[in-house]
Amino acid sequence: MADDHGAAVPAGQRRSNPGSFAAMGILIRGGDLVTARGLARADLLVEGERIAAVTAPGAMVGSPGVERVIDATGRLVIPGGVDVHTHMDMPAGDGLVSADDFDTGTRAAAWGGTTTIVDFAEQNPGDRVEDKLAEWHARAAGRAHVDYGFHMIIGEVNPASLGAMAGLVAGGITSFKLFTAYPGSLYLDDGDILRVMQEAARLGAVVMMHAENGIAIDVLAEQAVVGGHTEPVNHGLVRRPELEAEATARTIELASVAGAALYVVHVSCREALEVIRSARTRGARVAAETCPQYLFLSLEEHLARPGVEGASYVCSTPLRSRAEGHQESLWRGLATDDLTVVSTDHCPFCRSEKAMGLGDFRLVPNGIGGVEHRVALLYQGVVEGRISLPRWVEMASTAPARMFGLHPRKGSLTPGADADIVVFDPTATTTITSATHHSAADHSAYEGFTLRGGVETVISRGRVLVERGTWMESDPGGIYLRRGRSVLI
Ligand SMILES: [Zn+2]
Repeated sequence: MADDHGAAVPAGQRRSNPGSFAAMGILIRGGDLVTARGLARADLLVEGERIAAVTAPGAMVGSPGVERVIDATGRLVIPGGVDVHTHMDMPAGDGLVSADDFDTGTRAAAWGGTTTIVDFAEQNPGDRVEDKLAEWHARAAGRAHVDYGFHMIIGEVNPASLGAMAGLVAGGITSFKLFTAYPGSLYLDDGDILRVMQEAARLGAVVMMHAENGIAIDVLAEQAVVGGHTEPVNHGLVRRPELEAEATARTIELASVAGAALYVVHVSCREALEVIRSARTRGARVAAETCPQYLFLSLEEHLARPGVEGASYVCSTPLRSRAEGHQESLWRGLATDDLTVVSTDHCPFCRSEKAMGLGDFRLVPNGIGGVEHRVALLYQGVVEGRISLPRWVEMASTAPARMFGLHPRKGSLTPGADADIVVFDPTATTTITSATHHSAADHSAYEGFTLRGGVETVISRGRVLVERGTWMESDPGGIYLRRGRSVLI
């Protein structure tokens, strides 16, 4: 077999520490291990919080240190999912807060096989960066069920915010997110973006970009509303693919001038993907993610529903037209690694909050959920023959861990890695409905979706959170992850 580093595991066993099995051992036996590098039948031994050994099937059965055996026969055993784009407990103005906090959101993540999230602390104009980071730490501390890290959104560029970046990097915040969208709140002009990129380059941090031309979009949005086009579908129609592609191209060039590594978030359309593909082909340090909503949902089928039904699907970047072929392009981009990561941008709001924008689509709070379903949704790509099993694991777990300074501790089944492990049943059937999901949102973007395969057992740093459909944990045990350097491939 091969692990993440391609090393062969001998017929006997391989372990990080050949000493005694003093710590409580969990043996996961009989499963097919899937990593980014391949597939092999092997057993996994967990000691304490870490993976202690990857062994030949049956080699550890009956060992005195094994106190608990999880039978994974017929199952896939994968590293826990890593979702590097969530917004738990996020204030959205006017007293609005995203539906999931760090308790419900990370519980939902765990149910769905995601054992690490990286959320966004947010500096708005007028805020001190350090104060906002402290706020987000307070939101998460003692409440998260899986491990978490933070990116920092820089919403105002000035000597104080630029000066704060070095301290954040030292504290494990090694990525900074900027916006070319949302004039009047988080929007930054090209000069401010360049300044942050220069400092990020100096610090070895990565710049994440929400790339849409917000100035142009606001003009089109105002024209639409004045013309009486107020339904939610107009949110998607005015946020034109060309305006995502333009901002993507512009910020790639700015990053190149600054010498910074750039990670484009929530790529939604063929035009932006083409920009990224050509930049990567010529050697630009740019990588990108897409999200399940752009792979499975569409403007015609979801955002165009009338009233609150459509408003429920308002997110930015927006859902795109299926007829225009964006979904097919994005799946191809994942297969060719022009898109490297799939994260969720998990940010649901309840229906009553979504309904506040009826009559003017500009007032609908942006965001939909998905943290619970990303791993299983992406498995449909395997079922449909779009991606391989190792590619599934790579884009859901290993690549995001590597890009955001968490690998090999996360996203890996190598001895010494954190024991973040998911047992996935490829023969199960999962039907998504808000009646049974674990998010606090009162609706699901994937309501009624029936998926092949399902998450069965979830282990987070050695703690069994979910076992065969039962929640096992009593107290939240997730910890803050001080991340290392981001690595853009
Ligand atoms: Zn987001």
